[in-house]
Amino acid sequence: MTATVPGTSPARTPAEAAFTPSANIVELRESATIAVSARARALRAAGRTILDLGAGEPDFDTPRFIRAAAERAIDSGATHYTATEGILSLREAIAAEANDRYRGSDPITPADVVVSNGSKQSLFNACFALFGAGDEVLIPTPSWTSYYEMVGLARATAVPVFGTRARGLKVTAAELAASATPRTRGLILNSPCNPTGSVYTAAELREILSLAATRGWWVLSDEIYIRIVYGAPAASALDLVHTRDRLIVINGVAKAYAMTGWRIGWAIAPRAVAAAMTALQSHTTSNASSISQHATVAALQERDAAEAAIAHMVGHFRARRDAATALLDAAEIPHVRPDGAFYLYVDAGGDGAAFATRLLDRYGVAVVPGAAFYTPDWVRVSYAAPIESVVEGVTRLVEVRRGA
Ligand code: PLP
Repeated sequence: MTATVPGTSPARTPAEAAFTPSANIVELRESATIAVSARARALRAAGRTILDLGAGEPDFDTPRFIRAAAERAIDSGATHYTATEGILSLREAIAAEANDRYRGSDPITPADVVVSNGSKQSLFNACFALFGAGDEVLIPTPSWTSYYEMVGLARATAVPVFGTRARGLKVTAAELAASATPRTRGLILNSPCNPTGSVYTAAELREILSLAATRGWWVLSDEIYIRIVYGAPAASALDLVHTRDRLIVINGVAKAYAMTGWRIGWAIAPRAVAAAMTALQSHTTSNASSISQHATVAALQERDAAEAAIAHMVGHFRARRDAATALLDAAEIPHVRPDGAFYLYVDAGGDGAAFATRLLDRYGVAVVPGAAFYTPDWVRVSYAAPIESVVEGVTRLVEVRRGA
């Protein structure tokens, strides 16, 4: 999407003036990151050097063994449409990995897996298949901005449930229960969390999952950052439930395998839901890229190479996290100490958007205002950037925060 710097947008053309958004998208919120990223672009174009701590993707290249598998797929002619839900070998690999965790009475089969163009599409398909007008969906907040928009596109109502500082902005089962109504139909979990990096313990997750089971809510568990953790392995919903009747687990290769551009994500769902999501996808995008699917088979099956690549990246993320949090601790700036993902959520001490603009304009550091995550007094710092940039960027952030 091309964005214009606020206040400099040209007059609307006749074609633009003729456009009235349909009821489908009229409520769609423009990304709150756009103003800052547009400004960062404008400053760069004007010759300023900008430290970008806004990125939501690893700054590493896709591991060589995965790229090699993609080359082999191209050379062997795997360049045609595939089944909408994905090639069988990939769905088998996904099911096998998930069954390593899941000990329930209904083992995961390839028929329960739908491969999509990124986990973003998996989440959208799930929201669109499960929720509709009159439904309410609980969203622990702060959380990734697209959940709200996807729930809204399904014409359901997103209900933010705010986490508390003492718990790293995580929510409890009791807090979720307090926000529920007879219309509550689902819950979207994300651990490790974007934007806080907080990780729910197995006990916390178990309590939430058992509340959802008692109430008959659908649970969408977005586990895209599950491999990027700095302490004990993060729990998956699959580790904790005995049946999957109302559970959709979402994952993908974008973050852990540095494969954002390949666009592969998946949902593990009860078979009827998987079939509905496949039908929906068959009328929108069809299959995800055939080449990317073959590359993902290698990512999941060549385990030694994958583990080494993930360990290498996580090692770097950890060093950057430690360096950044040390600077914030020394300056006594409140923040959530991240146990996973590659984000640091910092209390801006006031309006996060104004803070982000000041940081960018005066100090050339781009971060994402917390309004993008429904918590406007915070900013998100990504440490998916070289450690020198992270240290320099957070040092400048501390200066701005002290003068704020
Ligand atoms: N879920 C969360 C919490 C994310 O932060 C992102 C990307 O930023 C996604 C899903 C989407 O990832 P993908 O690239 O697999 O669509």
